[in-house]
Amino acid sequence: MSKKICPFWERGICKFGDKCKNSHKYNIFLFGHGGRIMIDYCIINKNKIKLTLFNTKRGDKYDNYPVIWKSKDTPFTLVDIVPNLILPKITSGIEPDVILCGSRGGQIILPTLWQYGYNYPAVVINGDIVNHYKKTKQTFPNNLKLVLLVGAKDYFNNYDTILSQAPWQPGIFIVRDPEMSHFPNYNRLNKMLPAMIQTAKTGSGISLFQLKKNNPTEFSNLEIFNRF
Ligand SMILES: [Zn+2]
Repeated sequence: MSKKICPFWERGICKFGDKCKNSHKYNIFLFGHGGRIMIDYCIINKNKIKLTLFNTKRGDKYDNYPVIWKSKDTPFTLVDIVPNLILPKITSGIEPDVILCGSRGGQIILPTLWQYGYNYPAVVINGDIVNHYKKTKQTFPNNLKLVLLVGAKDYFNNYDTILSQAPWQPGIFIVRDPEMSHFPNYNRLNKMLPAMIQTAKTGSGISLFQLKKNNPTEFSNLEIFNRF
């Protein structure tokens, strides 16, 4: 017998939490550019997740850095994904409980969405939301709910600097993984995603700290920061 959809489920949270007997399925927006490694996670967990995927193909017409990133001028860039693809979904009533993104998605697409005034909880692989703000000289929105995952072996090279350069707000968690390269290990990432998604949704790091405590051989070296 299938459970009925919970009437108390709103923006990824139910007031009855784990005790609720109804079905909870949250909306995830996944930015394919730079975030494709997470597609399988969403498909495997499709009984818990409703996935809206933006850009399934590598090298599509939007897959260009904007000129402000010292790139050549192209008719479309990653910035254009927001007004052309993402905003129409949102204004039609499909909103994400959590956004998953990485690399180009975290550098450009997510901050561009904020500039349009839409600030949803997000998990960002490579955590590089800072560069866009340096280039556009804008200030970060308040009340962000973010998990920024950064790796010591990533060529993005922000493992150390992100602690000083990312905005410090109560809902921002930085997870530093000494083992991670630019492309996280697939199995390790899939084990971390539920805790990162839960932390982004709730603004509480309990699930991240539990992940570390309950898996000492695998995750004792994870560094979790939440300063404000
Ligand atoms: Zn419920």
